[in-house]
Amino acid sequence: MELGGADCVELARTFGTPLYVFDEAYIRRMMRVYQDTIDAEYGGNGLVLFASKAFCCEAMYAIAKSEAIGADVVSGGELYTAMQAGFPAERITMHGNNKLPRELSYALDCGVGTIVLDEYSEADLLDELAAQRGKVQTVLIRINPGVEAHTHAYVQTATPDSKFGFSTQSGAAEAFTRYVLGKKHLRLAGYHCHIGSQIFEKQSFVLAVQKDLAFMAQIKRTLGFEAEVLNMGGGFGIWYTDEDAKIPPEGYREYLRALIAAVHAGCETYGLKLPFLNLEPGRSIVGEAGITLYTVGAIKEIPGIRKYLAIDGGMFDNPRFALYQSKYTAVLANRADEAPTEIVALAGKCCESGDLIGTQFNLPKAQIGDLVAVLSTGAYNYSMASNYNRNFIPAAVLVKDGSAEYIVKPQTYEDLVRNDVIPERLK
Ligand SMILES: *Cc1c(COP(=O)(O)O)cnc(C)c1O
Repeated sequence: MELGGADCVELARTFGTPLYVFDEAYIRRMMRVYQDTIDAEYGGNGLVLFASKAFCCEAMYAIAKSEAIGADVVSGGELYTAMQAGFPAERITMHGNNKLPRELSYALDCGVGTIVLDEYSEADLLDELAAQRGKVQTVLIRINPGVEAHTHAYVQTATPDSKFGFSTQSGAAEAFTRYVLGKKHLRLAGYHCHIGSQIFEKQSFVLAVQKDLAFMAQIKRTLGFEAEVLNMGGGFGIWYTDEDAKIPPEGYREYLRALIAAVHAGCETYGLKLPFLNLEPGRSIVGEAGITLYTVGAIKEIPGIRKYLAIDGGMFDNPRFALYQSKYTAVLANRADEAPTEIVALAGKCCESGDLIGTQFNLPKAQIGDLVAVLSTGAYNYSMASNYNRNFIPAAVLVKDGSAEYIVKPQTYEDLVRNDVIPERLK
């Protein structure tokens, strides 16, 4: 089995397991597909922002920088990582439903391009912090257009219950717009929405665009404010198992085409100027670019019930099954040419019965020492990893033209105790 031209058995031998492996070419292709579509079909009047939370490390920002796209961050830590990578601050948008005072101050000091406001108190605080620095900060307002989408279904919610955003239907978003327009040190540029994740239905995005533009037209009428920026968030779905569509990178153009067509149509209907468009794909840029390699260390068969393959990773490197029962596909990377013959569960090494990568993997009969590759782990794995049970967060390598280099080095025992302190009285 190969990824980006590198042999997985060779990678495991060189770097050890568990190991995250990323295909640089795939990441770049996805970034280009999105930005090229905006350039070709929307006159370049927009910028793709990589949603850092999907996979945050310095090398990812270096790639995004070299592809001339932007990034969104949701914490001081993500922003710091971007700054360490030399990422241009003006191409960063900062999110969060409870940005801390120190995070807002840090964003202002870095010169972050856009901050997305999500509460009155936050507008007050940011205005004050910007005033102290003699700055005017560009902001968007996070709106909730009452469209919530997951995979193949979307719901239009009349009374949206979400910790994010202001409802466009209840009047809350209009009232907050009026409030922000009154702030001297905030420059309101427009609106942001993010309707969900792992969405395959184009119509979900189209509907959200329609609702956002209808709201923007209403604001133009009532407050005389015409938004210049519309940020539609991320959420494009990827392949995890054959229950999901397998979309080649170029296939994602169709999502943007549908979305851009809806923007054109809506602006014409309402007599709005075309807004600068931001998109924030995370999962679809990096998810299918990554796999995780594990070694089978133990096999336990409970007759008539289940067979467990115990691997050297688990919920500490991929908590998504434990959190959401997320499904994955696995293969035996050292025997990739053999047909699958049995259904097994992949069990992690943590002291938790729920520490599983999944229960329905179709594999050839595995032996101790076999190499398991879990596919589509590039997004929300490393970024959600922990040191639970004081396991090491695995290293990550980036493969290009068949050769691999570390982008996240292996942890050591010293890393695990670095912040530990024994008070004098306990010694
Ligand atoms: C999570 C998130 C994204 C990225 O979503 P994906 O499903 O990974 O594309 C983008 N914007 C915001 C505000 C988010 O919360």
